[in-house]
Amino acid sequence: MPTPDILIAAALPPFLAEPLRADYRCHEYYAASDKAGFLAAEGGRIRGLVQGGHITTTPDFLAALPKLEIISVFGVGYDGVPVDYCRQRGIKVTNTPDVLTDDVADVAVALILMTGRGFVRLDRFVRSGGWLERGPELTTKLGGQKVGILGLGRIGKAIARRVEALGMTVAYTGRHRQDVPYQFLPDVKALAAASDFLVVASPGGAATRNLVNAEVLAALGKKGVVVNIARGSIIDESALVAALQAGTIKGAGLDVFADEPRVPAALLTMDNVVLLPHVGSATHETRKAMGDLCKANLDAWFATGKVLTLVPELA
Ligand code: NAP
Repeated sequence: MPTPDILIAAALPPFLAEPLRADYRCHEYYAASDKAGFLAAEGGRIRGLVQGGHITTTPDFLAALPKLEIISVFGVGYDGVPVDYCRQRGIKVTNTPDVLTDDVADVAVALILMTGRGFVRLDRFVRSGGWLERGPELTTKLGGQKVGILGLGRIGKAIARRVEALGMTVAYTGRHRQDVPYQFLPDVKALAAASDFLVVASPGGAATRNLVNAEVLAALGKKGVVVNIARGSIIDESALVAALQAGTIKGAGLDVFADEPRVPAALLTMDNVVLLPHVGSATHETRKAMGDLCKANLDAWFATGKVLTLVPELA
């Protein structure tokens, strides 16, 4: 079989880029200065595309790749891929579920601990010499508080297990009620009203854009904290900043933002907000496992015509 031509849409870590280069003819689109010239010269040969979860691929772009058979996403979120268009063209779309679940859930719990117990603020308090002048603030006990999870999928369930171990109770919402021992609420506003921590763990994309809006934040209320480990697009960021400025919610712990790596300037100066640079899956072990699965999907496709982790919309 001739070596398949693969388009690399974003810079990849060496532990994925190097094995790909060993087995495929890789075309580093992200590094090309003349993107249109690149597509005109190479687009007709490309049979596979590798992209990160943060990249958006448009139908127009894919139209320049007439022989494309598979998009292998290095990440679980594939909101940057036009899945309906891919279905029409018969292009397979794969992602890297499961292998990152525990790490992302750990980040959600860390954000609950950091916002709920004020640990980042208290770290600043020690470093700035504040402790030499006065005692630390008291915060609120986590045990007994309710965590409302928007999107009780693989990551949402792993978060639920972790916060249960902290003595917290769990409620959730999503498009379906599930057979789980947690309270189901019919929509995100009702979930917010019932929660101390509203944890966002659903996919991004058009269906969830700005789902957490001003009304939902008002329902969460003054004692409520928003945690987002999913996608920045799910929260109306202007409404979030306004609610934090007005004190109508208590705080926020955010790993993801609408326009990464740019973060709304107002958030940078707020003491009741903890900000992380999209590190949900950012451990050596997990990124390597994601890379292996990303390549394994391509290998399986070109060897057998089957993939390992087809996205559910195409199954
Ligand atoms: P998953 O197993 O597919 O779970 C997604 C959950 O969201 C499901 O329970 C689903 O339940 C719910 N959902 C789907 N569409 C919805 C909608 N329109 N409204 C409300 N709920 C909806 O996915 P996962 O593996 O847990 O990953 C979740 C997301 O985490 C990914 O899509 C990704 O964007 C994000 N993520 C972030 C990081 C990071 O670094 N911070 C890392 C990995 C993943 P129903 O079917 O009942 O609606």
